[in-house]
Amino acid sequence: MRKKQFKAESKKLLDMMINSIYTHKEIFLRELISNASDAIDKRYYRSLNNAGEGLARDDYKIFIDIDKDARTITITDNGCGMTAEELETNLGTIAKSGSLDFKTNNDAKTDVEIIGQFGVGFYSAFMVSDEVTVETKTEADEIGHKWVSQGADGYSISECEKDTVGTVITLHIKESTEEEKYDEYLQSYRIETLIKKYSDYIRYPIIMDCETRRLKEGSEEEYETVVEPKQLNSMVPLWRKNKNEITEDEYKEFYNDKFHDYNAPLHVVHSKTEGQVSYDALLFIPEKAPWDYYTKDFEKGLQLYSNGVMIMEKCGDLLPDYFSFVRGLVDSADLSLNISREVLQHDYQLKLIAKNIEKKIKSELTKMLRTDREKYVKFFESFGSQIKLGVYADFGRKADDLKDLLLFWSSSEKKLVSLSEYVERMKSEQTSILYACGETTDKIDMLPQVDSLKDKGYEVLYLTDGIDEFALKMLRAYNEKDFANVCADDIDLDTDEEKEALKQENETSKEMFDFMKEALGGAVEEVRFTNKLKNHPVCLTSEGDVSVEMEKVLNTIPGEEKVKAQVALEINAEHPVAEKLKALYESDKDKLTDYAKILYSSARLIGGMQIENPTELSNLICNLMI
Ligand code: ADP
Repeated sequence: MRKKQFKAESKKLLDMMINSIYTHKEIFLRELISNASDAIDKRYYRSLNNAGEGLARDDYKIFIDIDKDARTITITDNGCGMTAEELETNLGTIAKSGSLDFKTNNDAKTDVEIIGQFGVGFYSAFMVSDEVTVETKTEADEIGHKWVSQGADGYSISECEKDTVGTVITLHIKESTEEEKYDEYLQSYRIETLIKKYSDYIRYPIIMDCETRRLKEGSEEEYETVVEPKQLNSMVPLWRKNKNEITEDEYKEFYNDKFHDYNAPLHVVHSKTEGQVSYDALLFIPEKAPWDYYTKDFEKGLQLYSNGVMIMEKCGDLLPDYFSFVRGLVDSADLSLNISREVLQHDYQLKLIAKNIEKKIKSELTKMLRTDREKYVKFFESFGSQIKLGVYADFGRKADDLKDLLLFWSSSEKKLVSLSEYVERMKSEQTSILYACGETTDKIDMLPQVDSLKDKGYEVLYLTDGIDEFALKMLRAYNEKDFANVCADDIDLDTDEEKEALKQENETSKEMFDFMKEALGGAVEEVRFTNKLKNHPVCLTSEGDVSVEMEKVLNTIPGEEKVKAQVALEINAEHPVAEKLKALYESDKDKLTDYAKILYSSARLIGGMQIENPTELSNLICNLMI
């Protein structure tokens, strides 16, 4: 029998496959099972039109047999089978061309990525086998045909005995080497796991002889191991079932099982979409972030199914970063696991689905915020930072879309509130949304600037997350109300008379303030009186674009040049210390220098900042005591 050569491009692809890395090898079974299922589909649908042919629906099955001694796995289906010509065209040319075109156009993609993402059908069998035999017979043929190949160097086709219609594929599993282990594919539990993982929802039973331990008949303690056929796939995907037929428990179990989270999901979104692209989506919002969520190892993505067959375990393109916490899957018959399909079209469908999914998640969260506040707060406590990052990312491209999902702690409500709730409560003369930053809400609550605003009846948002202020700056305004950091220079709540009086005060003391600024050696831009502090003597006020809080965050980024917020030291004009300073300016400039340093250091401490020289501060205070 003459050996035939594969077409040149097929040879390349085969080499690529045979040498692919280990972790992707396991998809071979998914590919072969999907082919078997497609072949059964074909025979079944044909029989619907030709009465008398084919089998009853229930008689269609896929069998898997393992023979450890012979090192073989056999996959048997009673599908349509192939004629000799079909064997030649289907298994003599790999993937017509699609994948190789794809490869040359996308050099950055590795071979493995191509295989991993699209699968390459039948030929993936060579990732684990050193010989593949296909015995097949069609309804129209009297006799069967056999295709045998040991890989890249060609294949042969001959006639063979075969009684039943369908296909039997026998893989001779490679010997394990130092680097690669293949023996595991001869273990039934491994095959069982692979079927559960990739082919659970194949619509025909997949049956394999499995070992089970059970009580010996008539005995109460003696066990025996029996080998009996077991169906490995559950056949009906949960997401294809009717929503109102699924219990909360079923969703939970499915989620726990598939996404390895012990908790119940906080929220389930189950949707069916039909239109330009049709798909089922089953999405879960976890209650808590997984342990690796904030590490670089975390990989976002949804599982991708094509008609019940998993084609990708984590499709990152389906989720924007700010919704990266969502787990779940998308199943679409419009996506094919067949790489011979147009890759571009594939891509287009995927983009469309991604866009819809993003919209869906947003609308679900918006609804949750409106109708189940407690649940939304839980969500926000786990994943709010991600939403804020989303507002900030890409120069605020999505800021507008996401702004209504934000919550911040409110000084007056003593809970998380949305921006729209804040704006609704704003005083009529108030033009800005007021906020203050700090480590904890308790610490912010004690800030002198906040204290006096609360006293005047203003609501202040407390920002405790590093990203908060950056997000607000990116947003710039909400409902035409801008944002004002109460520890920065841009709030204006005084009457004109009050402003004028303060201006006078500051002008009169200008020389003293210049002296104090000098004494602080350039640590502050300015020293001045303020009337925004209620009972407190001093505070630091940010002057430039970078607030004190932003300085703290930016300076934690390793490798970046350190930034410094520009600040002014503000002294409460109504506080007795103001008079004391004025007196010292006349009588004891050395002491005024010390006082300036102490006031500056205490203002830093109040603002939650480090002080540069704690020993100096301690000495200065002790000097006052003795
Ligand atoms: P595809 O992505 O088209 O399934 P494959 O390389 O996996 O690519 O298979 C090539 C073709 O071989 C299939 O389209 C099908 O026509 C045929 N084929 C593969 N496996 C079987 C099978 N078990 N029964 C009948 N035909 C099959």
